[in-house]
Amino acid sequence: MPSPIVVQVVVDKPLAQGFDYLWDSNQLGNDPEVGQLVEVPFGRASLVGIVIKVSAHSDYELDKLKSITRIAPLPPFDAASLRLVNFASQYYIHALGETIIPAIPQMWKKPDNWEKALEKISAAEEKKQKKIQQEPSEGLIDEAHLNQGQALALEKLRQCSVEKEFKTILLQGQTGSGKTAVFLNWLKGILEDTTSQVLLLVPEINLTPQLERRVRAYFPDKKMVVLHSGVSEKNRGIAWYEAMTGKAQIILGTRLAAITPLPNLSAIVVDEEHDPSYKQQDGIRYSARDLAIWRAHDLKIPVVLASATPSLESWIAAKAGRYEYIRLDQRAQGAALPQVRLINTRDPQSQFSPGDIGRPISASLITKTLANAISKNLENKKQSLILINRRGYAPILSCNACSWLSKCQQCSSYMVMHKAGALGRRPALSCHHCGLVKPIPEHCPDCGNADLKTLGKGTQKIEDAIEEMWPSARVLRVDTDTSRKSKGAEELFQEIHAGNVDIVVGTQMIAKGHDYQNIGLVAVLDADSRLFSPDFRAAERLFAQLVQVAGRAGRSSKDDESAGEIYIETQYPEAAVFQYLLRHDVDGFLGYLAHERDEAKLPPFSYQGLVHAEAKSLDKAIQFLAALKGRLKSRGLMTPGLKVYDPVPRAVMRVAGTERAQLVLEADDRRQLQDVLEAVDQDLRNGSQGRISKGDRIRWLIERDPTSI
Ligand code: ADP
Ligand code: ZN
Ligand code: ZN
Repeated sequence: MPSPIVVQVVVDKPLAQGFDYLWDSNQLGNDPEVGQLVEVPFGRASLVGIVIKVSAHSDYELDKLKSITRIAPLPPFDAASLRLVNFASQYYIHALGETIIPAIPQMWKKPDNWEKALEKISAAEEKKQKKIQQEPSEGLIDEAHLNQGQALALEKLRQCSVEKEFKTILLQGQTGSGKTAVFLNWLKGILEDTTSQVLLLVPEINLTPQLERRVRAYFPDKKMVVLHSGVSEKNRGIAWYEAMTGKAQIILGTRLAAITPLPNLSAIVVDEEHDPSYKQQDGIRYSARDLAIWRAHDLKIPVVLASATPSLESWIAAKAGRYEYIRLDQRAQGAALPQVRLINTRDPQSQFSPGDIGRPISASLITKTLANAISKNLENKKQSLILINRRGYAPILSCNACSWLSKCQQCSSYMVMHKAGALGRRPALSCHHCGLVKPIPEHCPDCGNADLKTLGKGTQKIEDAIEEMWPSARVLRVDTDTSRKSKGAEELFQEIHAGNVDIVVGTQMIAKGHDYQNIGLVAVLDADSRLFSPDFRAAERLFAQLVQVAGRAGRSSKDDESAGEIYIETQYPEAAVFQYLLRHDVDGFLGYLAHERDEAKLPPFSYQGLVHAEAKSLDKAIQFLAALKGRLKSRGLMTPGLKVYDPVPRAVMRVAGTERAQLVLEADDRRQLQDVLEAVDQDLRNGSQGRISKGDRIRWLIERDPTSI
């Protein structure tokens, strides 16, 4: 009798180890392979899992083992993709099963539907074939049309990728300098090999439709799939299948695409590599950019990081020669850089005075300087973009008679006032942290006063003010309230492109990627709110956003006079962020930041980890972390070069009734951090069921390289 086959399978549970199952080749119709997606009995239920090991024996009694019930009609995950998830699991201190299974689309996690899924795919394939032939290809910048700088950049990229060799390349160039045109031409060469796959990562769903059109037009005869959370479950299931079977050559997606199995991956591009949305903020908290670099290293392929404002990490690596450094320094269409103007809001000259003619009722919302500029821009028949990074009408509702404020009862934050708006929504108070929605009180809940006032400003309030000041202008508001779905946003962007709008009021989402042609003015109203933040990356982010925003202005103009203007309202015009922005000096600012971080020994000059704790009371969460710190000390794990801070409440301490605290660990080198985080994991697991501590029932999670602390 042949010896039985035992396979080890990981499932989506926070368990460090896999489980042994028996494999009956006769019944299953196949021999086992590592990487195979299977269905297994688990407790009383059944789960999907991935085979991670095949052997002839088990540490458990064979007759106690259960059997694999079904195999998915899929090829096994390829070896390199398994190495990637293994690495991610170790590096981010997250169980392998919890790393690999959540990244699989729902369609492939329902064994009863496996056969049907395949039918859906062949049906979709036929439909697509028909559609592709009808799509026109337009707006291409092929190799022959690249300008000199671009041609040189392309040449350098090709040199970097000619051999099968790992290289990280930072492609830095201001918005509109033609980076996309360069890397698409580069990918074209790679895709000539019809088995090659390329992965193109973008930070946000909102950016995909535009890039998708451009890439499709560029590669009309290549199979491309799009993977992001806005794609329907069915289409995601299909796209993932085509990616992991090697049928799709171009994979365009957001961070979740970074760990999709791609058996023939030959090149990676991470566009807007500095963008914070590459960091996953729940479950396994990975950085898609960092994983992309690891993946490229493992596969010995090139990875291009593109940005106008590189992350400090990447910029330093490029400066130090650890990355190849390619620069594009001219705007492709010859457009000049916009003029940056700082409006000092403390300067009375910038404000309306009570006697001014045409002084609006909402005069405090928009400075006189900005109002004049908008009027002039309207006369010039140019569009204006007004940015304020807060949706809703006002961030707080307050009572003037007592001290009542619209606090959320479940969170340590305020409920935002929303006016009645598009989509038939009623006026309401809404908490942007836990989602709680309540009607707006007519009287103060504490003292009965009927005169409630709003504090601060959101997109709706600014929209009202603008409509009041320029009654004949066509005003459009763009925020997540007016564009619930990615398609919704796309429709709004099209309105702007078509010239159906004079003034756009919106959140950061209008500032990214879109290549508007007629913007003469951009204004940022709330820059200061992001200048002072406990997070040491706040200034870096603000700078990147402002540069991004500035890139929206004056895209098409070729002469200085109509180059477009960006107005920033601030009380602190002397702050470094603004001063470097005035000169469009990205490198100067990054150099300044590097110096600052080096002095303070903050990342990237040190490495950080976080332990999160969530409990019903803040005291308990803090005690839990303090006790952990005590154990690290008594076990001699606090080695020189390692700093363990005291536990503190999170910036937003309470969300949906749960109190949140954190413990920051900081080490001089990666290895040291890895060792201590593994020890923390071991320690916490010992007293826990999954990731909930026994007894005091505190939920904990370890985060590596946190991006917001
Ligand atoms: P980036 O990615 O750096 O923002 P893009 O590649 O998107 O820049 O180029 C910005 C704009 O300039 C796009 O509208 C693009 O079509 C156009 N463009 C790029 N390269 C050229 C070129 N060589 N000649 C003319 N237009 C170009
Ligand atoms: Zn009151
Ligand atoms: Zn809340």
